Amino acid sequence: MMPAGTFSIPGKPVLPGQTLASGQQATLGVMGGGQLGRMFVQAAQEMGYFTAVLDPDPASPAGLVSHFHIQTPYEDEQGLAQLMQRCEAITTEFENVPSPALVTLGAHRTVAPNAKAVAIAQDRIAEKAHFVACAQGTPDSVPPAPYAAIDSAELLQAVPAELLPGVLKTARLGYDGKGQVRVKDRAELAAAWDQMGRVPCVLEKLLPLKDELSVIVARGATGQMVNLPAQRNIHRDGILAVTEVHPGNLPPALAERALRATRAIAEQLNYVGVLCVEYFVVDDGSPEGTLVVNEMAPRPHNSGHYSLNACDVSQFELQVRTMAGLPLPQPRLHSPAIMLNLLGDLWHRDSGAGGKAKAPPWLELLKLPGVHLHLYGKLSARPGRKMGHLTITGASWDTVCITALAAAELLGIDPWTPSAGAGAA
Ligand code: ADP
Ligand code: MG
Repeated sequence: MMPAGTFSIPGKPVLPGQTLASGQQATLGVMGGGQLGRMFVQAAQEMGYFTAVLDPDPASPAGLVSHFHIQTPYEDEQGLAQLMQRCEAITTEFENVPSPALVTLGAHRTVAPNAKAVAIAQDRIAEKAHFVACAQGTPDSVPPAPYAAIDSAELLQAVPAELLPGVLKTARLGYDGKGQVRVKDRAELAAAWDQMGRVPCVLEKLLPLKDELSVIVARGATGQMVNLPAQRNIHRDGILAVTEVHPGNLPPALAERALRATRAIAEQLNYVGVLCVEYFVVDDGSPEGTLVVNEMAPRPHNSGHYSLNACDVSQFELQVRTMAGLPLPQPRLHSPAIMLNLLGDLWHRDSGAGGKAKAPPWLELLKLPGVHLHLYGKLSARPGRKMGHLTITGASWDTVCITALAAAELLGIDPWTPSAGAGAA
């Protein structure tokens, strides 16, 4: 069914604060109502847009702060029709939005990123094939880790010995280290695949990691592309724990190479929107290590949250600008930054996972200068759940590190070794 309403003319910007011919306010929509949707909604509202969220959960973090919240399943025809009726342009905040829903929306509305790009990012097998294609024919390109796709007993048998020990990852629906198991040998591999219900998977060689990084680009419908500075990321138990951004966080040649690879990955998808690509720096004995591409997210990313406080254009504003067809100035980092994820575990420091949740000591934390607290409005603090994050900014990298380590100690986050300052040996 075609929805009533005012259709945006492709290529014509959706201007903020505009009253349309239909009498509606210019409205931007998002599929998914998690914390990424919430920060998108907040960025859109800051610029004067109305917002609409489609998420079945009545208490979804984005639904709670949006002008409109459509509470239906993602593939519900009426829900999608309502979203189209409300919105001039629609984006997505998590990669597992069913891509047929995006196809439906895309037939009538600007949808950024497009369904095809989202479908590729949803499936590790398709994603890796895209990375391999992007890496072909360019001398300086970045390949994925050695891997094999497994979707039959024959392919399981045929896995080359050099991929073991490895990491078996489900092709779909994995996140925050979920849906993956480390396997030492063929017996463990076969048992792990059985345990995963023999769904399509990839087996990746387990690599000795020296570091991890990510690059976030924003690409407009005209093909113009801008980027945030490359982020250095520390994961714990498969979940992002710390992001560091400052001029000395990574060897410049490595960061530049990752940026070029990310641009190629976005270009070859004809991507419109914000795209994050994660990389491994593999310890191969050389001083800098070798770059390997890991995975991509067709949306803003946890490793880009610092941009809200440390850049003059955040990743969420970039998402708004790309979907609305607004200009895309190159973002500038105006402060060195550290982002610390706040997982539900921090609410259970004294009582253990089964006990009563207790809020972390916010008053003590907020005494620290340069600490920016972001909480996502989630009511129950389960271990491993992303409840919020902190960004720490400051006049120098040293100051940021000292404050961030103090904040971590106060909250019960394990310390880490920060990267050296710019110009340090
Ligand atoms: P997710 O979708 O859960 O983020 P990833 O593939 O990014 O899945 O894996 C999560 C983390 O697990 C990575 O950031 C990295 O720390 C570790 N990891 C994943 N694959 C490998 C690998 N092949 N070798 C070594 N570590 C890995
Ligand atoms: Mg990852």
